[in-house]
Amino acid sequence: MQTSAFQSLHLNAVYLPFPISEEQLPDLLNAFKLIGLQGFNVTIPYKERIIPYLSQLSEDARRLGSVNTVKAIDGRWKGYSTDGPGFMRSLSSRKLELHQKKVLMLGAGGAAKAIAFALINQGLDRLDIKNRTREKAQSLKEKLEVFAPELRISVNPETKTEYDLLINTSAVGMDGVSLPIELEVLDRCAFVADIIYNPPSTPLLQAAQKRGIPCDNGLEMLLFQGVESFEIWTGQEAPVAVMRDSLKKSLAFTN
Ligand code: NAP
Repeated sequence: MQTSAFQSLHLNAVYLPFPISEEQLPDLLNAFKLIGLQGFNVTIPYKERIIPYLSQLSEDARRLGSVNTVKAIDGRWKGYSTDGPGFMRSLSSRKLELHQKKVLMLGAGGAAKAIAFALINQGLDRLDIKNRTREKAQSLKEKLEVFAPELRISVNPETKTEYDLLINTSAVGMDGVSLPIELEVLDRCAFVADIIYNPPSTPLLQAAQKRGIPCDNGLEMLLFQGVESFEIWTGQEAPVAVMRDSLKKSLAFTN
């Protein structure tokens, strides 16, 4: 989707994958500088490990302690995190207003952290976090509370709350058979966002559709985290429709 975006705006650039080992990281970064590379993404397991090599971090990346986008600025690297903003942009195309709303988030891994840090700026009424490993959810709650001391955050709550939004950030459902939550909880949710994009329809999304609950998979988040990266690198508005089309084609190809 990035190369399609460059082409559509006639930018002389390409986006290429470099599978590397950890020992190669310092040499690779020097090589990138030598050839005048303008920016890159990093993914697991480099989202934290890249940080010591960067001169500057955006506010989002600093809070999270995680980077997925790097830009060269005057010969130095600056790190950004676009997963949280990407998720928020995917919701805004659904016109979901989160002010004073109740949100249940499943999962407490890397994606959950990025999304939760974006959510706490939205003026929520409450954020409930449910995770298999309670300690991880508790640790995320404590990190969030530093920046949003006034927000009600509960871990693995036993409530009958009606949620405005359920977000599945856990990996449960990638197998195409498992449900990350009891159906009784799903029945109390007004909108469901599952950030899994492969398979395109998880059992959670199928159950939501069956009940007439509006829902989205993770394709738009994947798209918009890339849109955010594109805009950081180029300073130009991304051609979103071109990127969406290209992303859908490549996912269809992989499946
Ligand atoms: P991660 O850091 O490894 O976290 C995985 C999360 O899933 C943890 O909360 C983990 O719970 C939970 N989990 C895994 N297996 C489970 C099981 N069998 N039962 C209950 N909980 C389970 O991974 P991540 O990077 O956050 O990614 C999570 C999911 O988000 C993946 O499906 C990934 O493809 C998707 N994702 C999508 C996008 C997008 O752009 N759409 C971006 C990033 C990630 P524990 O803490 O108990 O282990």
